[in-house]
Amino acid sequence: MALSAALQSALDRAADGGRISHQEALGLYREAPLHALGRAADAARRRRYAGSEHIATYIIERNINYTNACVTACKFCAFYAPPRSEDVWIRDLDDILRRCAETVELGGTQIMFQGGHHPDFGVEYYERHFRAIKEKFPQLVIHSLGASEVEHMARISGVDAAEAIVRLKEAGLDSFAGAGAELLPERPRKAIAPLKESGERWLEIMETAHGLGLESTSTMLMGTGETNAERIEHLRMIREVQDRTGGFRAFIPYTYQPQNNKLRGRTQATIFEYLRMIAIARLYLHNVAHVQGSWLTTGKEVGQLSLHYGADDLGSVMLEENVVSSAGAKHRSNRLELLHLIRAAGRVPAQRSTTYEHLVVHENPADDPADDRVVSHLSSTAIDGGTAHPELRLLDAR
Ligand code: SF4
Repeated sequence: MALSAALQSALDRAADGGRISHQEALGLYREAPLHALGRAADAARRRRYAGSEHIATYIIERNINYTNACVTACKFCAFYAPPRSEDVWIRDLDDILRRCAETVELGGTQIMFQGGHHPDFGVEYYERHFRAIKEKFPQLVIHSLGASEVEHMARISGVDAAEAIVRLKEAGLDSFAGAGAELLPERPRKAIAPLKESGERWLEIMETAHGLGLESTSTMLMGTGETNAERIEHLRMIREVQDRTGGFRAFIPYTYQPQNNKLRGRTQATIFEYLRMIAIARLYLHNVAHVQGSWLTTGKEVGQLSLHYGADDLGSVMLEENVVSSAGAKHRSNRLELLHLIRAAGRVPAQRSTTYEHLVVHENPADDPADDRVVSHLSSTAIDGGTAHPELRLLDAR
């Protein structure tokens, strides 16, 4: 079915870098033919990155999970354990520093400090850990946490969110990863994360952080039963804040994983829905620079396709990941394979920094880095016994 003249005009405007309305975005998300949506999003990406449109970026990073204890009990989560349960674990500082050392050893530039809402962890806990990490590894960027953690730690410490953010920044936090956005509109958020702060509060804290000089990424969890209108509403809420702050560096949608959680996989997003979201994000979030394809949750081929639907970044070689992989995401890759995937999608790979500068542009395959230890590790391999996978050589705890 052909698009209406009004929607075709909106699609053309967005492809040219213009602004489309919330209603136009919803109409396009629902009705535009998949390939037309992808072509328009790719045109918008090329226009935005004219001169470097042939490049797709990736980063080398490590998720460091400090505890799985969490009082928030989100229904989609397969990672947390109730705080008094015997399944609870807490990584000590030496263990965390050793994981940082491995990250540096393998050329990683960023860590994502990520964990549950532990009932005793206030701002002081994060200050102590960030200071210790920065003291030993000043070259590592701490791109971590999100508004939910801020809300929780501020409550534990009896301070307001702004004070918590200032103290985190002084202790070494470089930017927020934007975790906990899930779905921002009220109905789907309450359905999957009833104990989390509201979507408005999540955005309010991110806006405060941007105002205090800490930028962030923004995320979206797709596939837990939300409607198309609620997905576009999520984007609208982000775009409004971005209009005021400009502090969201990227938008990263990813798909709900069905295993080991209370939702039991009753609903899931399809690959087509995911690709449509990548495209509409590029077109509607014209004020957010980067759109990331999530091959970790959707698969490598879908990651490649996302590069033709508006994504300019293919995420990371995640040296350790324990959260979405606990719920069933099992796509692993290593740097050489990621470079190949990007090239096979017709783009030149570039390793990037947290702020998206190109650190290494891999123009010539003959010059590709050969260290085969730069590989993704998932929960089943990375966390048992508190040690890394044998392929990931442990350094002495010096
Ligand atoms: S998603 Fe985060 S806040 Fe929710 S239960 Fe899991 S660890 Fe806790």
